[in-house]
Amino acid sequence: MSTLTTHPGSFIAGAEHRNAGDPLEVVNPADGRAFTEVATATEADVNAAVEAAADAQKAWSELAVSKRGEILGRAANHVEEHIEELIPLLTREQGKTLRDSKIEITKAVDTLLHYVGLSKSLRGVHTPNLDPGVDGMVLRRPLGVVGAIVPWNFPTTLLCNKLAPALVAGNTVVAKPAATTPLTTLRFAELLAEGGLPEGVFNVVTGKGSVAGEALVSHPLTRKIAFTGSTPVGERIMAQCAHGIKRVTLELGGSDPMIICDDADLAAAASAASMGRFYNCGQACLATKRLYVLDQVADDVIAAVAAKAAKLQVGIGSAPGSQIGPLHSERQRETFERQVAESVAGGGEVLAGGGRPDDPALANGWFYSPTVVLEPPKDSPMAREEVFGPALPIWRVKDLDEAIELANDTPFGLGSAVWTGDLQSAERLAAELDCGYTWINSPTKVYDELPFGGLKASGYGKEHGSEALDYYTDTKSVVVKRAL
Ligand code: NAD
Repeated sequence: MSTLTTHPGSFIAGAEHRNAGDPLEVVNPADGRAFTEVATATEADVNAAVEAAADAQKAWSELAVSKRGEILGRAANHVEEHIEELIPLLTREQGKTLRDSKIEITKAVDTLLHYVGLSKSLRGVHTPNLDPGVDGMVLRRPLGVVGAIVPWNFPTTLLCNKLAPALVAGNTVVAKPAATTPLTTLRFAELLAEGGLPEGVFNVVTGKGSVAGEALVSHPLTRKIAFTGSTPVGERIMAQCAHGIKRVTLELGGSDPMIICDDADLAAAASAASMGRFYNCGQACLATKRLYVLDQVADDVIAAVAAKAAKLQVGIGSAPGSQIGPLHSERQRETFERQVAESVAGGGEVLAGGGRPDDPALANGWFYSPTVVLEPPKDSPMAREEVFGPALPIWRVKDLDEAIELANDTPFGLGSAVWTGDLQSAERLAAELDCGYTWINSPTKVYDELPFGGLKASGYGKEHGSEALDYYTDTKSVVVKRAL
């Protein structure tokens, strides 16, 4: 019999809701120990959440858009006032360092406030005299109830990327966080409600993807699924959304290349490669997952990146000084270790890390040392698969043609980065890299102002930017014959 306290598990219509499903343990990735358990949502619990969201949607959508923004802004400010409570909670269930938790939650609130700002400037389209005395208008209509399904690597930012445009556009939301990171999302929802978000406008159901996630996707009242997660689950959700012709956006896996040219600022490029790969223990969709360096400068860059990796402080997320926390779960570390081991067995040379840290204080958590592998085979997992952990493969390339060919030789198309001192190379790379975002001489940072979303197996649709609002609205054309 478990001695853990059981959290009721969902947040529906402005209040805690006790799920009927079996509880799932929440484990601290730093020590492998369960510290609480959360009752999981059954189909009936999900139905209750979707119905609450549907009940709230009409009144929410009838508010002036600026009023919705004002309410969301107040609620977001209330979350921000409680950030010191959320930070350790996120670190405890996710594993990331306190510093990374703070960066994440601050960014999540910023995204809410960005769309609050946009709510003040939304305008429609009016076309006079389509025919004599006949005007046309294009109205934007909310979709209804949006299901937001989110993974465990950035529970709050990936939620707010969906929540903010959905709510400003007049939709209501039922979110499902990953089964392993329910707590921060549940507290986030409570704080938004305490801050004045009306009942039913934002609901959370927790539990397994195979039960709660599927029920949310298949509920007839969810009109859109906004999903972030793995490509196989995204494919499945897209197929399910065909029933009922539901809208869908998919933010999926990535294997972002970085190309460093011989005329680049090499110190800045090496720092960006290290930060881009090891941030959040390498568990980010947008991360530097493959590094291609022009031959002439390869030795210097490789040495600099390996030295940086070796210096990073691996430690328990809540300990001061830790720069890299544990991987999120035992299963995550097993997959990652298999990918590194096969890539090294195929001929890759380990230049830093390459195994678990030997500090006994870290022995029970899912830690792995920051790793750099030189020239793993081009068909190895580090080249072909998404690697979700702290290991960077590096390849030398003879010229830009080879760099572009290898960079694009992946099923994914999320992001890419380029370091060069030459404007023409920069423009060519920006044009020819097959992905949704390219950073030139700039660290990998997602801006709320710019649309973000992958090509190929990395997804469909956009988050961020005013473009995201298009994915949470339908347009309707209205023709008006004026009295003559
Ligand atoms: P996952 O696909 O296993 O799970 C993601 C979410 O989907 C979880 O909440 C899970 O419970 C739910 N889910 C699982 N099966 C489901 C089903 N059949 N129906 C409905 N919901 C279901 O992904 P993961 O392994 O937890 O997360 C890591 C993945 O997320 C990586 O591939 C990463 O690249 C990707 N990711 C992408 C982005 C992006 O913006 N492109 C951002 C972060 C993470």
